[in-house]
Amino acid sequence: MKTRMPFIALVALLFFPLTALGQEELKVFISVDMEGIAGVVTSAECSSSGPDYGYFRRIMSHEANAAVLGAFDAGATEVVVRDSHGSARNILPELLDPRARLIRDWSGGPMGMMEGIDDSFDAAVFIGYHARAGTPDAIIDHTSSGNVVDFAINGRSLPESGYNALIAGSYGVPVVFVGGDQAIVDQVEELFGQVGTFATKQGIGAASLGLHPEAAQKGIRAGVAEAVRNRDRYRPFTMAKPYTLVLKLKSEASVYNGSFFPGARRTGDWELTFTSDDIIQVMYAFNVMKR
Ligand SMILES: [Zn+2]
Repeated sequence: MKTRMPFIALVALLFFPLTALGQEELKVFISVDMEGIAGVVTSAECSSSGPDYGYFRRIMSHEANAAVLGAFDAGATEVVVRDSHGSARNILPELLDPRARLIRDWSGGPMGMMEGIDDSFDAAVFIGYHARAGTPDAIIDHTSSGNVVDFAINGRSLPESGYNALIAGSYGVPVVFVGGDQAIVDQVEELFGQVGTFATKQGIGAASLGLHPEAAQKGIRAGVAEAVRNRDRYRPFTMAKPYTLVLKLKSEASVYNGSFFPGARRTGDWELTFTSDDIIQVMYAFNVMKR
């Protein structure tokens, strides 16, 4: 008995994480926009007043779920889906896998499309994303709203996936996969370097050549599974601090109002500049300025 105790203790130690804690925790955060979803080509198709919105929100829901299934295929123990488009009330909840949880509507805070992320997550995934404002051969290219001409940090123009990745990066969470049109795939590959991607369609001027929704969902499920499995390959996205935001807007009223934001300066006819070490503060300033 005396000699067996240490052996039993060793065995218990080796299997402690599996037996006492159950499966190792793996949390995946999925932010879902609509413009980059398979088939979508005009803003009307992703606007709740558009006649085809009901059709495309179903496709969006299935495409979001393809990412959810991919995450669970890769061993995720928890998946949070953040509806990130328009009203943030697009995804039809019952079309998601019952193991996933869904964040709907806007909190009013600065986390925006990344509402719900924190340092407990292991990987972030973006689905239905689109290129930044002013990108040629992109489908519905814009940055946040039609008022934004350019959002640049430290001289680098960023798409929504860029500043959202900085938010994830501030919590130490890497973006492992981005789905959307070919233009955003090209932008994130340039920006992040190593990242899993899947193009649902290719812009031809303002037209698009796209995959069947089921083909896109199949590719996204497989791509997300591979990216989550290989999450150690991807680094959290960061840039040198402090972050200096140079924001170019279309609306004179927004530029005038934004210039009163504490710490902000008007640095051009249509331009505001704001500096902070904290990306959440930058996003808070951005939300006020772009109104
Ligand atoms: Zn959107």
